[in-house]
Amino acid sequence: MENVYTASPLQQLDSPLFREKKLTVYIKRDDLIHPYIQGNKWRKLKYNLLEARKQNHHTLLTFGGAYSNHIYATAAAARFFGFRSIGIIRCEKPQMESETLKFVRIQGMELHYVTRETYKQKDSSAYLETLRNRFGNFYLIPEGGTNELALQGVAEIISEINVDYGYLCVACGTGGTLAGLSAGLQGMKQIIGFSSLKGEDTLTSQISRLTEEYCQSIYSNFQINFDYHFGGYAKANQELFDFIKNFKKRFSIQLEPVYTGKMFFGLFDLIKRNYFPIGSRIAALHTGGLQGLCGYPELL
Ligand SMILES: *Cc1c(COP(=O)(O)O)cnc(C)c1O
Repeated sequence: MENVYTASPLQQLDSPLFREKKLTVYIKRDDLIHPYIQGNKWRKLKYNLLEARKQNHHTLLTFGGAYSNHIYATAAAARFFGFRSIGIIRCEKPQMESETLKFVRIQGMELHYVTRETYKQKDSSAYLETLRNRFGNFYLIPEGGTNELALQGVAEIISEINVDYGYLCVACGTGGTLAGLSAGLQGMKQIIGFSSLKGEDTLTSQISRLTEEYCQSIYSNFQINFDYHFGGYAKANQELFDFIKNFKKRFSIQLEPVYTGKMFFGLFDLIKRNYFPIGSRIAALHTGGLQGLCGYPELL
């Protein structure tokens, strides 16, 4: 498994805006790791899969919604690395199966639909026990893939960015990815997280809790920006769609509207507003998630 994926490419982005503001901007292309097993979802899975194998597990079980990038990557990785996989999906069995669920079913993931009420018990040991009785023993990967081993995988990104930079930008959902980057940087440099969800005042404490569990440290070199969520999770508007289309035209790099589109929109806006001092060097992480585009054919 260690040998399957080598480091993802790092590219410099060139645009008149960056030249005008005298900034250097790099993009870390985790979207290029693999067509299906890409981005931060692969980074979070890597050490979990190694651990599952070490513990002699043959089955992975995880949780997610009908459009989840994590469910998608887990199903593909399970198939690739030879695990049985079970997805506990938050929704009544839909009349029209989402493209994501269709894909994971074809990958062999066994889908188990639950109500929102049942789904809320995903961290309860009594509920997990009923799942064990039903499906047999499994290696549990939490919703979104975020746990201590996930942080270890994400932290590896830092060692792959071998250019000088002062800022690292990343999209945030649960904050697990930002926590891993923060652990990898050990308090160095400045991390800017762009939340894809509406004001979540628990995000900062959640990140601190994760880094404390993982490396017994709480770092303060990060801040989370809540100005670019476009109304909340999976919400978007024409302005964001136009940005994503123009970004692709200029750089030949595809973004999606749930996470990476919002992050780059926010980064470009901060640059226009002179947030970054002249001469700043900025690295931005492309966290992948391109499967989510199936719902937006006009962006492809
Ligand atoms: C899941 C996801 C995120 C958010 O990651 P967290 O660790 O939950 O903050 C960001 N970008 C993409 C593309 C994702 O799929």
